[in-house]
Amino acid sequence: MTDNDTSLPGERRHGAGTYQMLWNCRFCGTEKLLGLQHRHCPNCGAAQDPAWRYFPSEADMVAVEDHRYVGADRICPACSQPNSAAADFCVACGANLETGQIASTQGVRELGTGAAETDTRRDVVLDRFQAEMMRVRGEEKARPVLLGLTRTHLILIGVLLAVIACVAAGVYAVTYRKAASGTVQAAAWERVIEIQEFRALTDEAWRDQVPAGAYDLSCRERQRDTRRVEAGSHEECSDIDQGDGTFRRECRTVIDYRDEPVYDSYCRYTVNRWMSSRSVSAAGEADQSPPAWPVFQLSAGSGGDRLGAEREGERREVYRVVIEANGQQHVCEVPDLATWQQYTEGRAVDLKLTITGAVDCASLRPR
Ligand SMILES: [Zn+2]
Ligand SMILES: [Zn+2]
Repeated sequence: MTDNDTSLPGERRHGAGTYQMLWNCRFCGTEKLLGLQHRHCPNCGAAQDPAWRYFPSEADMVAVEDHRYVGADRICPACSQPNSAAADFCVACGANLETGQIASTQGVRELGTGAAETDTRRDVVLDRFQAEMMRVRGEEKARPVLLGLTRTHLILIGVLLAVIACVAAGVYAVTYRKAASGTVQAAAWERVIEIQEFRALTDEAWRDQVPAGAYDLSCRERQRDTRRVEAGSHEECSDIDQGDGTFRRECRTVIDYRDEPVYDSYCRYTVNRWMSSRSVSAAGEADQSPPAWPVFQLSAGSGGDRLGAEREGERREVYRVVIEANGQQHVCEVPDLATWQQYTEGRAVDLKLTITGAVDCASLRPR
């Protein structure tokens, strides 16, 4: 929306102030009667009912000059005539207004940037019928079914019990263990050494995030962020039914914002780094060869920070044993060499099986 759009409705719209609510006579059909002036229908004499009042459209708005607000109307307990809150006795029948109810209002109408193009009259009879239907339906739903509990309560309790049962079954299945015994059939080892190479690496980053030692920088401007900036203002109004046949229009100035791009340098650069390039490994069976680290050769010219140079990286070792238990073969990894050496071929072991018959490797012990 541009600045021009916001000023247009403002010209057609009435400003802050006090205006007449309107009402339609339900008895003779006279429309757009004034809420403050016409306490009775000038056509047939019927008393105004505050429930019939509505906010007028912009074109039908009638300003009230020098209006002194004394509070929402009081309904006469004897003849239902709405009276000014300042009155002690009914203007129509003279009854004491002390026990009279405060008139209901039409609440608040929000206008935003536009004008009130239509009035807000509603079908009061239909509204009441629908409210009654909602109330009856609500009561039906809340009727107790068993032991003072409603159907909704029973469904909730059933769902809760089902969830608890599922969780309990899950915990049982995961933690279930059955003791068993087995025999070591084989034991194997594997040792791996990672080899790193000093390489030129190309990457991109914002200028303030380019790593130290980077070279061959090539940067260009690019949008990095957005910033909120003020961009004029517009007026928003709301109409408040005062309950005495008038409404109050209140307007406030709302500041508009727009997003503005923020630019920064985005750079392509090269930097030299040690990168994992290859690995060498050795493996064997316990009965054929004892565990040993693989023998390897670094590339020519290694031993410094020169492109193409190599160095040794991380070392890894893995020890496995094959167990026969319950007529099935299972493979377990053991944590270190000393533990692995206890599992010589043919040795009896104690272990635990899970609910699916798999070995819980953490429970593996030589007998
Ligand atoms: Zn009338
Ligand atoms: Zn009265």
